[in-house]
Amino acid sequence: MRLSHYFLPILKETPREAEIVSHRLMLRAGMIKQQAAGIFSFLPLGKKVLDKVCDIVREEQNRAGAIEILMPTVQPADLWQESGRYNAYGPEMLRIRDRHDRDMLYGPTNEEMVTDIFRTYVRSYKDLPLNLYHMQWKFRDEVRPRFGVMRGREFLMKDAYSFDLDYERGKIAYYRMFVAYLRTFERCGLTAIPMRADTGPIGGDLSHEFIVLADTGESEVFCNRAFLEFETPGVDTDYSDDKVLTDLVTRWTTPYAATDEMHDEDAWQKLPEDERISARGIEVGHIFHFGTKYSDPMGARVAGPDGQQVPVSMGSYGIGPTRLLGAIIEASHDDAGIVWPKGVAPFDVSIINMKVGDGVCDEAAEKLYRAAKDGGLDPLLDDTDQRAGAKFATHELIGIPAQIVTGPRGLANGVVEWRDRKSGDKQEMPLDEALNRLA
Ligand code: ATP
Ligand code: MG
Ligand code: MG
Ligand code: MG
Repeated sequence: MRLSHYFLPILKETPREAEIVSHRLMLRAGMIKQQAAGIFSFLPLGKKVLDKVCDIVREEQNRAGAIEILMPTVQPADLWQESGRYNAYGPEMLRIRDRHDRDMLYGPTNEEMVTDIFRTYVRSYKDLPLNLYHMQWKFRDEVRPRFGVMRGREFLMKDAYSFDLDYERGKIAYYRMFVAYLRTFERCGLTAIPMRADTGPIGGDLSHEFIVLADTGESEVFCNRAFLEFETPGVDTDYSDDKVLTDLVTRWTTPYAATDEMHDEDAWQKLPEDERISARGIEVGHIFHFGTKYSDPMGARVAGPDGQQVPVSMGSYGIGPTRLLGAIIEASHDDAGIVWPKGVAPFDVSIINMKVGDGVCDEAAEKLYRAAKDGGLDPLLDDTDQRAGAKFATHELIGIPAQIVTGPRGLANGVVEWRDRKSGDKQEMPLDEALNRLA
């Protein structure tokens, strides 16, 4: 992409309404525009990062055996009356009436609808296990939408739903998602710790929130420092091996980690002081086994091996890709701007031409731009006529992992400058070496 042809509305001033750094930086870097409280447009740079995050989420869901579908945003109220949640959900639900006076709603989540899909088509235990997911906009009329995309009213969610014959098999489905979540967040450049979370009236221990530690997080959390050293399960993890999954989940659920609702002060006090982290955190994902809570009232039954009809055992698994954008920036920024982890960066490399119109600079920049493309990278070429200071500030702010600067002084000696956004290292090198590195 050539910056002169792009749409990157950088703000010079720090917007007053933004209370936390990720919100400020997303506005300043021209990633989002607020359209109403908690409702945002995603501008090109924001859309690009959102797509990268969604690609990672999707790849890891697919790898773990989940199957993608797409359910609508607007749902009929009937389904929610069947489950009993239509009245229970309260004012967070945006209720809509259509021209025929039918009660509809903008979906805050999809348990009812996916249960309806399941009961329409699936009759036998032979079709299980099944895990269906989608990525779709949700609406929750949050009392206090704030912190930009972190707590929006309209936000993107990946929600998966597992269907199994019984609790034991449902547990393995839960483990698959547990491991997929560890991999997903790591690939987004985050350390997300699975913490025991409230299961409400369902009970049991199959509910975890994945929490990114951050001072600006809205949850109060308690966990063992050991998690910071844990190694994320590899890409070759065998999702069909129940023992592998069980061992991984056991390892990741053994050290203490709980949200404030589940916090056990006695157990906590027994931990050595230097192992304890008591902090604030951002909930980026939540997995939950709820058994027959919906399949029972909605009649989603399958025939078991003995021919008996049983309500299917279910779990749901949510990730907020839009919230993740905020969480990633909270975890990875400096005074100059965003520092994108490589896996989600909107571009791989910024090529900054310091003197547009100068034949030597233009030629070098074009060569680098072409070499990056040929090398399978996604480069951003700054071919604007901005001043040097403004250019540097822009590229620091938008946080592309590598920057290559072509200036007349360097090129007089045949060199360009390669900058690493994260470490701040600057290295002069011959143009050919930079070209080779991009190849
Ligand atoms: P919170 O406790 O922050 O209100 P939640 O527990 O209500 O979140 P879930 O119902 O568990 O959220 O939804 C799954 C995921 O969707 C959350 O883990 C989070 O990543 C995302 N999410 C939920 N609410 C919002 C929101 N208002 N804005 C952005 N993302 C959200
Ligand atoms: Mg909520
Ligand atoms: Mg929550
Ligand atoms: Mg939750």
